[in-house]
Amino acid sequence: MNTIPSFEKNHDSLQPGLYFSTLQKGVATYDLRFKKPNSDDYLSPAVSHSIEHMLATALRNGTQKEHILYFGPMGCRTGFYLLTEGLAFCEVYDALCEALTACADMTSVPGALQMQCGNYREHDLAGAKKACNAYLTLLLAMQSQAIQAEEEKQTKAAQHHD
Ligand SMILES: [Zn+2]
Repeated sequence: MNTIPSFEKNHDSLQPGLYFSTLQKGVATYDLRFKKPNSDDYLSPAVSHSIEHMLATALRNGTQKEHILYFGPMGCRTGFYLLTEGLAFCEVYDALCEALTACADMTSVPGALQMQCGNYREHDLAGAKKACNAYLTLLLAMQSQAIQAEEEKQTKAAQHHD
């Protein structure tokens, strides 16, 4: 069996942050790492679930909504995947900062009625807002060199595929 690309990354040295992961058929995948892997600090299932609802809603109503293909949680509960089409890294970065800011203003978890969700009791609005705020703070502190480096990784991937 072939190893999928995300397993080839050394997770022990991975710090929380925003990373370009892969570009396949024009679809870019980003690693939104909220927590340092294997460090006994994970998003609770309820927090991860609520962020899935909140950030997906914010991204799909944001400036780049036409380019958002998918947003969903990692099973390890250290972060999320975001799939986009036609966006540069800095545009994804800006869209995320905008969406995380919108999450901070939410007074309920969108789509959390019984008929809208597969586990409607398992939500944590306050915990999700706290985790989104922490991640926004982390993104805003991201050095321009680090943003540039991710931008270049994505550009290189585009050159190899097209
Ligand atoms: Zn749900």
